[in-house]
Amino acid sequence: MSNPKNYIAGEWVDATDAADDINPSNTNDVIGRFPRASKADTERAIQAAKAAFPAWSRSSVQERHDILKRIGDEILARKDELGRLLSREEGKTLAEGIGETVRAAQIFLFFAAECVRLAGEKLPSVRPNIDIEITREPMGVIGIITPWNFPIAIPAWKIAPALAYGNCVVFKPADLVPAMAHALSEIIVRAGVPAGVFNLVNGRGGEVGQTILEHPDVAAVTFTGSVATGRKVAAACIGSMKKFQLEMGGKNPFVVLDDADINVAVECAINSGFFSTGQRCTASSRVIVTEGIHDKFVRAMTERMKTLVIDDALKPGTQIGPVVDKNQFEQDLSYIEIGKAEGAILAAGGEILKRDNPGFYLAPALFTDVGRDMRIYREEIFGPVVAVMRVRNYEEALLAANDTPFGLASGIATTSLKYASHFKRNAEAGMVMVNLPTAGVDYHVPFGGRKGSSYGPREQGRYAAEFYTQVKTAYTFA
Ligand code: NAD
Repeated sequence: MSNPKNYIAGEWVDATDAADDINPSNTNDVIGRFPRASKADTERAIQAAKAAFPAWSRSSVQERHDILKRIGDEILARKDELGRLLSREEGKTLAEGIGETVRAAQIFLFFAAECVRLAGEKLPSVRPNIDIEITREPMGVIGIITPWNFPIAIPAWKIAPALAYGNCVVFKPADLVPAMAHALSEIIVRAGVPAGVFNLVNGRGGEVGQTILEHPDVAAVTFTGSVATGRKVAAACIGSMKKFQLEMGGKNPFVVLDDADINVAVECAINSGFFSTGQRCTASSRVIVTEGIHDKFVRAMTERMKTLVIDDALKPGTQIGPVVDKNQFEQDLSYIEIGKAEGAILAAGGEILKRDNPGFYLAPALFTDVGRDMRIYREEIFGPVVAVMRVRNYEEALLAANDTPFGLASGIATTSLKYASHFKRNAEAGMVMVNLPTAGVDYHVPFGGRKGSSYGPREQGRYAAEFYTQVKTAYTFA
């Protein structure tokens, strides 16, 4: 990638600082050198967005529709090439990279259509001869701060509704995935967004991110990332009275009951525990199994794990790519040591793998004999490490599933309508899956969690309007 830049106030601009972008499947492969914006660059982007807002917020819904549609169409037309770049940069497999790219296109196309569907309400007043109109208006400048694990889908599900509802955007992608952010930004610019409406400021969280959080001209911040950073975002946004939305970590449970179809249970646990290298916020890293099926389930899991192909993300046949970088790799390995030291049994995997090229290859790890107080059972690892806990019955399983400060996704494998229905009603999570992996969601319905996983309105689908608009109630006497 030749000389990538940031995009500020309608121009591609250089920065004084830059960093290399490394392929985690082959650390000798440098994807490019990407500029890191400064505080001053970020302030310029915010000012440009503020200046563009009056015209953009009054632009026709047809214009906004057409721009978003062009973005979605180009992403879709280039899905193979963009999916390849995504896999090279983030380390998920090519199929996953292409799948995520298609998802991003679908999100832009969904919000293109939403532009021409934004509706209000008209109500009679309780007083005579007065009409009331309730309308939704854009917020202003939206700061968008994203993580590395979905380098195109998460930016898409924040940028698309922000633009659709008439807001201007300052987009700060994660440091580890600047190439995808750059590729997406080029497409957005090419689609014809007016200068200042969309700005890309790639750079450090502590500098670019913090400037967005503290700036008085940013009306709202949407953040996806870790709990630790989310806390900082919340504190800074409250300090400057901004609207904010946080999507953070998870320690998602997957319950397997005695009556489960064993194949469904194993495939769900394998998929949501290990695919995308376990680096999905909706991954199920805790599997809670009732005692009648426990041993059979663990045997079937370990057998299935032997068939998993862990290799270069771009290599045909790879099912699980490398861990995203050295820091995350070391974190995963340290949790594997913690699990062993805590007395859990490492039933399968957990070892460093050597492949043709130097990369962060780790065999997915399955721990059994896990206790509820162990750190591997309570803390988000964000890698391919699954902790299995044995329980006596459904009631214990439900208590265990809810016994966490997080509440993003929760799943169950059962053939019982009674338990499935009870679990859907009583799981303390924003998203519940029955006989499905906890990871893997649709784009036209709300996404988000409860408790320590999320804060603020839901993302995606029509619920996105809650965050990206503000409500006005107008009274007319006539
Ligand atoms: P992170 O918190 O390290 O970084 C997220 C973003 O915040 C990055 O762009 C980073 O540069 C920025 N940032 C860092 N410090 C900042 C600061 N002081 N001010 C403003 N911005 C700052 O998270 P990550 O490692 O990129 O992503 C992994 C985490 O994301 C996991 O915890 C995962 O569960 C979570 N995640 C959650 C969801 C969800 O929807 N709930 C989805 C994907 C990932």
